[in-house]
Amino acid sequence: MLDPNTMQDAVARRIKAMGERTQGMRDTESYFYNQPVSELRGGARVIVKGREMGMYASYSYLGLIGHPRINKAAQEAIDRYGTGTHGVRLLAGTLDMHRELEETIAEFKHAEAAVTYSSGYVTNLTTISTLVGRGDYVFSDKLNHASIVDGCLMSGAHFRRFRHNDMEGLERRLAQAPADAAKLVVADAVFSMDGDIIDLPRMAELCQKYNAWLMIDEAHSTGVLGETGRGIEEHFGLWDVVDIKMGTLSKTIPSVGGYVAGKREVINYLRHASRAYIFSAALPPAQAAAANEAFKVILDEPWRVEKLNANAERFIKGLQAVGFDTMDTETAIVPILCGPDEHAFALTRAAQAKGLFVLPVISPAVPVGLARLRTTVTAAHEPDEIDYAIEVLAEAGKEIGII
Ligand SMILES: *Cc1c(COP(=O)(O)O)cnc(C)c1O
Repeated sequence: MLDPNTMQDAVARRIKAMGERTQGMRDTESYFYNQPVSELRGGARVIVKGREMGMYASYSYLGLIGHPRINKAAQEAIDRYGTGTHGVRLLAGTLDMHRELEETIAEFKHAEAAVTYSSGYVTNLTTISTLVGRGDYVFSDKLNHASIVDGCLMSGAHFRRFRHNDMEGLERRLAQAPADAAKLVVADAVFSMDGDIIDLPRMAELCQKYNAWLMIDEAHSTGVLGETGRGIEEHFGLWDVVDIKMGTLSKTIPSVGGYVAGKREVINYLRHASRAYIFSAALPPAQAAAANEAFKVILDEPWRVEKLNANAERFIKGLQAVGFDTMDTETAIVPILCGPDEHAFALTRAAQAKGLFVLPVISPAVPVGLARLRTTVTAAHEPDEIDYAIEVLAEAGKEIGII
């Protein structure tokens, strides 16, 4: 086995550089990542290293992790099917549970059909690289999720990025591409580090005008946006403008996996051409059943979406009132801008000492100098918990000099 400490090549240099960076953070008590949570107490409280903390870093926006109906569906699926599948979907891996889940998703997303994959990351990689290839054009918002960027690069298509949410920039790039070339425009619905929403009405118009396919990643908008949580199209009252409605089953939906919903022919194509469907095993039955039940719970318990919105508003207004810069957020993803990495680390340290599970986000996830706490609230928080969090953050923010 090779020893990275004695090897001199580029691989060893990368390994050593990362070792030094993470060790440096540990030495200055600035390493907050990979902390094991040992227990969930309700959706909004967790036990970390034996301490109970308020959870402000969760993607479980509607507080559905541990929901009795969802747990029961998963347990029944294990009793019925066991824990695995017989391999890939195309051959022996498709269960009636997968079909049921895909019908549920299609209905929830106002689409004719849907297909699922084993993660959201893989869904973006495989969908983009199956739809476009050499000679085609793909247009991507600069703040799009890494899985979209990787899918664009993997596709081999001409890769054009436009400034974040800048529809004039997008139009310029669309106009520069040959009129007869195949074009795909892709964006997050809600941006994961900023919490703002893509200008879907304008983007859809441009796609119409330039004959471009439109793909939207709803990782942070399914269950979050729209009166009944159906996502960005419901939010804008624009049904059926998105060709490729992509989402994950690992955030609001407390499972794992990813999906694409859209026209029947498009989904049929992905089912027979996308490599992650053909060459990778199916979702485990328990996770498929949990996801299926979760979509139903969202519709049966509309108070969750309402409470999420009220909580997000309370948190954002409270933070702004004490002077924090929460950037352009309009959702439950609330960035607290700190600037230099050290300020983000200091604020994290102070907040964690007072029982808030928050995490700093630094380069390369966000630009250098725009380090932040990327906080979230969910439907599981109570108003007094949110007020306490604001108080703690305000006190620490003043001490550190952020506000
Ligand atoms: C989390 C996320 C993904 C990846 O989803 P996983 O199910 O975690 O693999 C894709 N896109 C966006 C915008 C995300 O935030």
